[in-house]
Amino acid sequence: MTDDDDQALPAGSFSTWLAGMKRALGGEGESDVPCGGCTACCTSSQFVHVGPDETEALARIPTELLFPAPRMPSGHVVLGYDENGHCPMLVDGACSIYEHRPRTCRTYDCRVFPATGVEVDDEDQLAIANRARRWRFDVAAESEGVEHDALRAAARFDRWRADLLPEGVVPANATQRAVLAIELHEAFLGHDDVTDRDVVVIPDAESIEAVLNERRSRRAPTP
Ligand code: SF4
Repeated sequence: MTDDDDQALPAGSFSTWLAGMKRALGGEGESDVPCGGCTACCTSSQFVHVGPDETEALARIPTELLFPAPRMPSGHVVLGYDENGHCPMLVDGACSIYEHRPRTCRTYDCRVFPATGVEVDDEDQLAIANRARRWRFDVAAESEGVEHDALRAAARFDRWRADLLPEGVVPANATQRAVLAIELHEAFLGHDDVTDRDVVVIPDAESIEAVLNERRSRRAPTP
């Protein structure tokens, strides 16, 4: 690791990032990560989900590289990785189908980990973990701090109240935990009328389900 590999990276305004991330997960935009020359997420043994509607991506990925996506309806596939853990569409250090890359890649943003406090714990993903821990958000206003706390509380929620999560929602990996936290965090935001301040609250099962239903009707699948 060089000094540069340790250097902090500006992640921008926390609220602006969170709003963009929610739009991207809802299918209303893309992540806008200042990746520089980083290709950590393309070289970390990740399966990339591709939906049946993603005809531009599917037309450019050789069919022998695609496999039926587990626990998903027919037509949903995943793109695997090579013996080095690299995406096979990564050629000479760059995405060979960048303009037509799958939705999963368009919405991936390793800033979800520092934003939610979720640790990348897969040893195949150390490069992502190293990149993720370098980001620094600007959390300027008090309301931004409460929103940040709500997001982190949501990221820990399944550890102690998984029983309140609807069936099939309990996250199976760090990325799913971080994305679930983004979807759930609004249920953890409340307002204290006495102090007239936003506060973090512990939601009940109905609030969680209402937030999830609203967002899940629009969200893109995560790896
Ligand atoms: S790990 Fe993060 S910075 Fe690196 S390529 Fe992926 S999204 Fe970009």
